Amino acid sequence: MSTPKKRITRRSHNSTHQKPVEKNRFLDLPFDVITEVFEYLEPVDLLHLARTTKGSRTFLLDRYRSGHVWKTAVSNVPGLPPCPGHLSQPAYAHLTFDPVCHGCFKSCDTIEWELRMRCCPGCHSKLYVPPTLSTSS
Ligand SMILES: [Zn+2]
Repeated sequence: MSTPKKRITRRSHNSTHQKPVEKNRFLDLPFDVITEVFEYLEPVDLLHLARTTKGSRTFLLDRYRSGHVWKTAVSNVPGLPPCPGHLSQPAYAHLTFDPVCHGCFKSCDTIEWELRMRCCPGCHSKLYVPPTLSTSS
């Protein structure tokens, strides 16, 4: 008497099965260890780190948990003035270190601090409305 054979099934290659998400083990370290490591970095490094994973973004954009880290990062850049009060630390880093026009996303060196944006000459006339024209109603 023969035993029933098990039916072997194979997954197709185009299966919708997803790989498990690899956990970010760095953020599992104790909070004081993470902040100690981050305090050796500059704002542009924190900005790039915040763009790598959801966990690092959540940590670095939480002003209560990472505010000290950002302030220390600013102090690590000689000559960089402190973050203006009207900007968050990540927004300050983005404005200061991302050399991209906020209108056309091309390379741009001009920072319009009052407008909190970078603006190339080509986009300036499109995006900027002089105050005398904007209050004429
Ligand atoms: Zn532009």
